[in-house]
Amino acid sequence: MANTFIYLQAAPVNIIVGSHVWVEDPTLAWINGEVFKISGEEVHVHTTNGKTAVANISKVFPKDTEAPPGGVDDMTKLSYLHEPGVLHNLAMRYELNEIYTYTGNILIAINPFQRLPHLYDTHMMEQYKGAGFGELSPHVFAVADVAYKAMMNEGKSNAILVSGESGAGKTETTKMLMRYLAYLGGRSGVEGRTVEQQVLESNPVLEAFGNAKTVRNNNSSRFGKFVEIQFDKNGRISGAAVRTYLLERSRVCQISDPERNYHCFYLLCAAPPEVREKFKLRDPTSFHYLNQSRSYALDGVDDTQEYLATIRAMDIVGISEEEQASVPLEAIFRVVASILHLGNIEFAKGADVDSSEVKDEKSRFHLNTTAELLKCDVKSLENALIKRVMVTPEEIITRTLDPVAAVGSRDALAKTIYSRLFDWLVDKINFSIGQDPNSKQLIGVLDIYGFESFKFNSFEQFCINFTNEKLQQHFNQHVFKMEQEEYTKEEINWSYIEFVDNQDVLDLIEKKPGGIIALLDEACMFPKSTHETFAQKLFQTFKNNKRFIKPKLSRTNFTISHYAGEVTYLADLFLDKNKDYVVAEHQDLLTASKCSFVANLFPPPAEESSKSSKFSSIGSRFKLQLQSLMETLNSTEPHYIRCVKPNNLLKPAIFENANIIQQLRCGGVLEAIRISCAGYPTRRTFYEFIHRFGVLAPEILEGNHDDKVACQMILDKMGLKGYQIGKTKVFLRAGQMAELDARRAEV
Ligand code: ATP
Ligand code: MG
Repeated sequence: MANTFIYLQAAPVNIIVGSHVWVEDPTLAWINGEVFKISGEEVHVHTTNGKTAVANISKVFPKDTEAPPGGVDDMTKLSYLHEPGVLHNLAMRYELNEIYTYTGNILIAINPFQRLPHLYDTHMMEQYKGAGFGELSPHVFAVADVAYKAMMNEGKSNAILVSGESGAGKTETTKMLMRYLAYLGGRSGVEGRTVEQQVLESNPVLEAFGNAKTVRNNNSSRFGKFVEIQFDKNGRISGAAVRTYLLERSRVCQISDPERNYHCFYLLCAAPPEVREKFKLRDPTSFHYLNQSRSYALDGVDDTQEYLATIRAMDIVGISEEEQASVPLEAIFRVVASILHLGNIEFAKGADVDSSEVKDEKSRFHLNTTAELLKCDVKSLENALIKRVMVTPEEIITRTLDPVAAVGSRDALAKTIYSRLFDWLVDKINFSIGQDPNSKQLIGVLDIYGFESFKFNSFEQFCINFTNEKLQQHFNQHVFKMEQEEYTKEEINWSYIEFVDNQDVLDLIEKKPGGIIALLDEACMFPKSTHETFAQKLFQTFKNNKRFIKPKLSRTNFTISHYAGEVTYLADLFLDKNKDYVVAEHQDLLTASKCSFVANLFPPPAEESSKSSKFSSIGSRFKLQLQSLMETLNSTEPHYIRCVKPNNLLKPAIFENANIIQQLRCGGVLEAIRISCAGYPTRRTFYEFIHRFGVLAPEILEGNHDDKVACQMILDKMGLKGYQIGKTKVFLRAGQMAELDARRAEV
């Protein structure tokens, strides 16, 4: 990713010998020190680590020597709003375990990587319930409280958008928000399966089936989630709906050390003996889908306990152990177990060319067990794995698959079954909690993957980053609107403030016709396409697009210049990954299952699409899902929480500067500050302004003027241009505060 810093405040500052400043540092990102020499454009600084640094004056930023030692709880209170200032403020607070800080109405949350129990107890909830916004320290509860109060007062829906990279704390934050909302909108004293309890317990169920250990997070959500909590006119929770996005399917059959598969597989292997026997389960080490990685146990997690906890949560959301339940728990776990057995079926070369057969007795045992658990015919299962039937107008041809293709067929079946199971769970949760058709107001909570840029990026990162571009646009527009509202309220002129948004990247990706998704769909429908022809088409179409770059050394990779930096995508698997279809043989096999639960996961497809090669595009479907999400969000009052991961070791008390800056950039925090800097980033009430800068003009202070007039006179005397005086505050342009401070230092 491009590592260009945004210089938020190219300060026309009076930096002089003796000034305290920030300069760039290769390891710390920024370091402070004192200027001891200035020659031309070059500023020489004695840094606090005992070294000297030389930097161009445009890259040197003033340090506020009057900043309070514990930092400020809102970045907009910083005298100098620039990157090093923002970072330093967060670092000071993090050291004191103050993990939350506002930037205007954005809450920045830095993962403490340690339990801070007092921070979230009932006493804390009580306090936030009684307090106005800004009265108490920044907190997730305060954000939820504002959303709730706004909803009650204005009858308008609200949304809380939580973002950040993997392991930053989105899901934990989301759960805290939901707990607080359930506290505000719950029915105290009511026992049993209340709506709010079901809403809360949907989390452990979805986590058991949709979360996994990855290198970046031991409990990583492998799907995006939007939870809509509905309230009645009295502010009580009356219903909820969960929407999920893009579950990572490949994980079901492919993992690499030290990651794990989805939690549910391990906890089922750790179930009580009678359950394991029923499903013929043994140790996770004996299953191919689990033993590709040597990571089995999770630190501090007991899978047997997790099994029991998951069952309890499932019971609350309406999936029970009782036999008479419409879908007994048993059926769900039977399907989970069948996937493990399916993965253990191996193939050997068959008698004919390009054919295969079930390898040995062991594989046959797993084949039989899979058929038993799925309640389908064992011969049909075998055929569905190793044969394909082609229907042409003339005849029906049966084609055999070689062992490699048979493994592909097996894995495709496993992925399809698992993703249908996951979707079913989401539907079931929604059905159990129930929707309130009369609810006019809701609070949505979005927990969705943040911007991703790895060494190798594929279709998944493309979709994820597309999501982030969408959310970024929404965010920019909102921040911009808020700024304008503040200016309007103060009756100042803001007409010439401009900012560049990211519509051009969105056009590149989603424009119809002609955007990348549209071209990808075209390629998928054209039988002769390859990833190379697809990439060539992209190069041709976008050769003059500023946001699109063809890397020099590659024929198939392409780079998109995202708002958060450049990301290079490998086109290789785009076509395959964009195609969503269930092999007809697999479909027929499971539709015919004697288990109604399994059969219902595979309803017969509509007539015209069966057996044809028509594909359904994952990219286009995702685009529609996002469109609908954006429509919902646009009808709400948004609140933003940006989660930050302070280090990649997942350990407390380590604050990695460069890493954090990158996240602030991806989360739009720096962008928000940039928008604010395009206008009047510093604002002070008349009183504050006079208090700080009265010394610049003692004669004015003695003149007994009205505060507003006095401010104006001080600013005029200093010869500043472009500032504005509102009804209650002075609005300064970027850098003007520093300039006034420098003048004050000379007095
Ligand atoms: P992913 O995108 O991978 O799902 P995420 O942003 O949802 O990541 P979480 O699972 O919420 O990340 O958090 C990762 C881990 O960080 C948690 O399992 C927990 O150990 C720790 N953590 C996060 N937030 C907090 C918090 N407020 N207090 C204590 N620990 C936390
Ligand atoms: Mg998560």
